[in-house]
This record gives sequence, structure tokens and C-alpha cells, in this order.
Amino acid sequence: MTMLIRNASEILTMNAGLGVLKNASVLIENGKIKKVGEIKSDKRTNVINAKGCVVCPGMVDSHTHLVYGGSREDEFALRVSGVKYEKITKAGGGIASTVRMTHQATEDILYRSAMKRLKNLAKHGTTTVEIKSGYGLSTVEEMKTLRVIKRLKKDSELDIVPTYLVHNIPDQMRRRDYIDLVIEEIIPKVARAKLAVFCDIFCDKLAFTRRESEKVLSSAKKYGFGLKIHADQFGDIHGAYLAAKLKCVSADHLEYSTTGAVRAMKKAGVIPTLLPGVTLFLQFRKKPLVKTYRKLRCPPALASDYNPGSCMIYSMPKIVSLACIIYGMHVEDALLGATKYGAKALGLFNRIGSITVGKQADFVIFNIDNYKKIPYYFGEDVVRYTIKKGRIIYGKNS
Ligand SMILES: [Zn+2]
Repeated sequence: MTMLIRNASEILTMNAGLGVLKNASVLIENGKIKKVGEIKSDKRTNVINAKGCVVCPGMVDSHTHLVYGGSREDEFALRVSGVKYEKITKAGGGIASTVRMTHQATEDILYRSAMKRLKNLAKHGTTTVEIKSGYGLSTVEEMKTLRVIKRLKKDSELDIVPTYLVHNIPDQMRRRDYIDLVIEEIIPKVARAKLAVFCDIFCDKLAFTRRESEKVLSSAKKYGFGLKIHADQFGDIHGAYLAAKLKCVSADHLEYSTTGAVRAMKKAGVIPTLLPGVTLFLQFRKKPLVKTYRKLRCPPALASDYNPGSCMIYSMPKIVSLACIIYGMHVEDALLGATKYGAKALGLFNRIGSITVGKQADFVIFNIDNYKKIPYYFGEDVVRYTIKKGRIIYGKNS
């Protein structure tokens, strides 16, 4: 099947910066990009008139915790009234409460609620999403979540990348015993069942130490997992340096990471991933060094970190706005972060993340005439179509 997206005001190719083409078209054949530029239509072609619209590669959300049970609005209410996140966590709230509610939920319940969330993602222009487990904390429960992700991957219109996240230490278990369980049982089982592409760990003062994280990730590497790390969110424990040492595909959060850590990540080819929705939700003052990333030419990815505790934002265009407003990112860098560098953070840039001949035909078409309006129209939903592999998966006035 062929489709022509005709005469867009702007096409953001993401090749050499944003790579803006004005008044240009894209031809799609068999789910792939066939031609970009000036193209004439013929009668057999399905045409989308994109006059007055911006065409962008489908958004890549490279960090989410989309599968979980229950919700945490009570905790949200406490937090906004001034109770600190650390205090809530110590009192059994935070991740532990989602762990309890995820244990209580059946696979079907988890599947149905996550599928609804995926539809919302598509509505806001996301075409590829990473989903982490991590609310299980036991072999049986982590495998349960990862099986749900596998079902979603099979049934959803979006591309889904599954990650096994070593998230926290379960109650009534010694740290050392839990790390042994992760290394000796959970990682080998997840690998054997081929339920995850990446292994990730919450390396922070609220969770695992740098040494524990290194032990777990080194073992995951032996089983063939790509590596990710939640690093330096609540303090600098040199998580980003560890990412560089282990050549992680990405290091995520990075609020407390230093200039030295940025240099180390750049040298090692780690994609730094920033999560401004969390900064907003948790009212963090500490922000990642966006000016340093720009100066040292170490471009970051942006992701939602969608999760029930610290960010309930589905929309990548909103994440782009927040990166600009809260972090002071340049609009161009933020848009690249939500597409090209998101794809790199998942090791998928050879297939997605730019409008390049031969790549997958994943697009978001915005109902606005220039790209600066994407973050500027913060309160408005400006997505007109989301297209996955050449098929409209969400559309307004179609
Ligand atoms: Zn996270």
C-alpha cells in the first residue's frame, strides 16, 4: 500500500539538526519511507493533505513504567501539601505501595489497564515505547509483569521494548540475599524466556549502591541484555560514571550528575536521558546540566518516565514543552531528544527516529504550521494524526 503525506508546511527529518524541509512531501510504501521531498501523487496513492501541518518522526518514549496496579493519588495529595517523597517512601508508600497493588492485580487486569494507557500514548504521537517491569520484586511477580508486556507487544499497534528493572529491595529481605536472587535466579530466567531486551537498575541513595548496581548489571551483560540505569536522581552516587564504565545504552534522570560525568558518558557513547515530567511532579529544584550537554555536544534523549508515583504524563509533546520551560532546553534540542535520541537510547536509530528513506514510516502530524508551536501550544492537543508503519493509528478530522 502506498500513502503520500503531501505538501507539509514543515517536515522535520532530524537529519543534520532538525533538518527542516519546507512545503515537502513523504511517500510511504509497504510501511517504509520511500521518498522525501517534492513528490507528485498518482491515482492509486492514498493522500493526506498536510498543508499547514508539521510532520515529525513518531515520538519515541524510551523510559516508562506503564504496567502497574492501583494508583497513588493519596500520596500525591500528601506530597503537594508538603510531605517529602523520601518520608512517604520510608513510611511504606512510594514504590512499595505500587508493588503491593501490582501483586494483587491479575495479568488480565494489568494487561487491560496498560493497553488503555498505550492508546493514550498513540493519541499524543508516540509510536515506540519502552516499558519496564520492577513492581514485582520476586521471580514470580517480575515474570508476571514481563509476560504482560510480551502480550502488549504482540497486540499493540506501537513498537514496545521490554526492560527488566531491578527497582528496589523487598520488605523483609536482606539486601545481599535479594541481589543474589536477582543474579542467580531472576536474570537467568528472564533471559531464558526472552522476556526483556534491557536490564535496568535503580542506582540511587534510596535504592541500590553503585557497587550493587555494578554487580547486577555486569551479570545481566553476560546474559546478553543491553544495559540501562536510573542514575543520580536523589543524589550524586556516581551512577552516570558507572553507566560510562559499563557502556550502558542509556543513563536516565541525571539531576545530580556533574560535568565530569557528562564527559564520561559522551566518551563511552551513553545516551543521557532526561525526564522533566518527574522534575515537575516531584517539584525538584535540582535540574540536569542541560547547558553542559549542549556545550559538550552530548545530546540527551527525553522521555516521560510515565509511572503512578512521580509522573502521570502520557504526552511526549508535553514533555518537550517541559524540557524547554523547566530545564531551559532549546526547542530544537528538545524535539531531537523526543525522536532521534530517544531512538538511540533504545538502540533503534537504524530503524526509527528520523525521516530517512528506508526507515519505518512512523510519523506524528501536528495541526500547526511551524515546529516552535509544538512546545508553545502547551495547553492544546495539536496532534492530528499518528502513523505507525504507514498506517493511521490515531486521527482527527480524517
Ligand atoms: Zn523510571
